[in-house]
Amino acid sequence: MKAFELVVAKDAAHAVALLAEHGPSVKVLAGGTDLLVELKSASSVPRVVVDISRAADMKGIAVTDQGLSIGALVTHAEIMRSPLIREMFPALADAAHTIGAVQTRNMGTLGGNLATCVPSMDSGPTLVALDALVTIAGPGGRHQMPLTGFFAGSRKTLLEPEELLLEIIIPRQNLGKPADFQKFGLRKGQALALVNVAASLWIDRERNTCVAPRIALGAVAPTVIRAPAAEAYLEGRAITLEAMAEAGRIAVGDTRPISDFRASADYRRDLIAVLTRRALANAYARAMAKPEGEKR
Ligand SMILES: Cc1cc2nc3c(=O)[nH]c(=O)nc-3n(C[C@H](O)[C@H](O)[C@H](O)COP(=O)(O)OP(=O)(O)OC[C@H]3O[C@@H](n4cnc5c(N)ncnc54)[C@H](O)[C@@H]3O)c2cc1C
Repeated sequence: MKAFELVVAKDAAHAVALLAEHGPSVKVLAGGTDLLVELKSASSVPRVVVDISRAADMKGIAVTDQGLSIGALVTHAEIMRSPLIREMFPALADAAHTIGAVQTRNMGTLGGNLATCVPSMDSGPTLVALDALVTIAGPGGRHQMPLTGFFAGSRKTLLEPEELLLEIIIPRQNLGKPADFQKFGLRKGQALALVNVAASLWIDRERNTCVAPRIALGAVAPTVIRAPAAEAYLEGRAITLEAMAEAGRIAVGDTRPISDFRASADYRRDLIAVLTRRALANAYARAMAKPEGEKR
């Protein structure tokens, strides 16, 4: 690995100041599970790496006025263990559980997973299905945007070199929204997703119809995407197994899967239909399992 200068940030504000001071040839280091692999084989390395791993103000999980805030430095293992997340969004904990092995989950952070922005990232689909926002800090202050807008392409986000991903927010109106995450890889552990899917929905109890359905798909396009045609098909529709299967078939048309050494595009299309149906069915089962007063 080529040499670089390492500077350590005390907190988020200090990290932003260090990024501004050393930019643009600067990189952020969180858990290092992606960055160190990348730097080992990179032909050019940043002049300065800002280690943010000790910024305690980026590590919390809390309900705020805006919704559920998850600090960018929260690790996958912490997501799996968080009582708040397990109660409100078990799908997020399930997704975290599928990431790498114990060591990767202990070191790897949610912010790092989103900022790396590989098409098969496992945190993305559930958060997109829950309409998550991200808070970004930079020399000009802080701003927020929808997570879908943050993804700019394969391994590309809208983050500037001097900007920091601070937190991920699931909006208040979606707290407790029933959701499910499905991943299919070539083996059970340590496998990248051939396809991953998350679905979320509320149900209208009197009519047994779908309200605000969301379907998010990974590894089937350059970034995690929504399946708008499938969502529109489900909105206000009676919830049946046939409707969920049809939504899965429609979702295929919303995607652009590729053929590679792991699987053909046709195989991925089959997976999209099957996993979407399963994610919807499980989200529906979660909705029905909620106590009467909590169902919409
Ligand atoms: C063996 C192995 C298995 C893996 N398996 C999976 C898997 O199954 N599923 C999966 O989705 N991923 C997997 N990964 C990828 C990786 O573990 C995750 O993407 C991890 O969450 C990255 O987080 P990190 O904190 O380690 O990021 P880092 O490596 O520290 O950083 C990654 C990138 O994000 C940037 N960055 C990090 N945090 C911020 C921030 N707050 N603001 C701005 N930029 C930031 C860094 O500059 C860098 O470019 C695997 C990795 C390994 C090594």
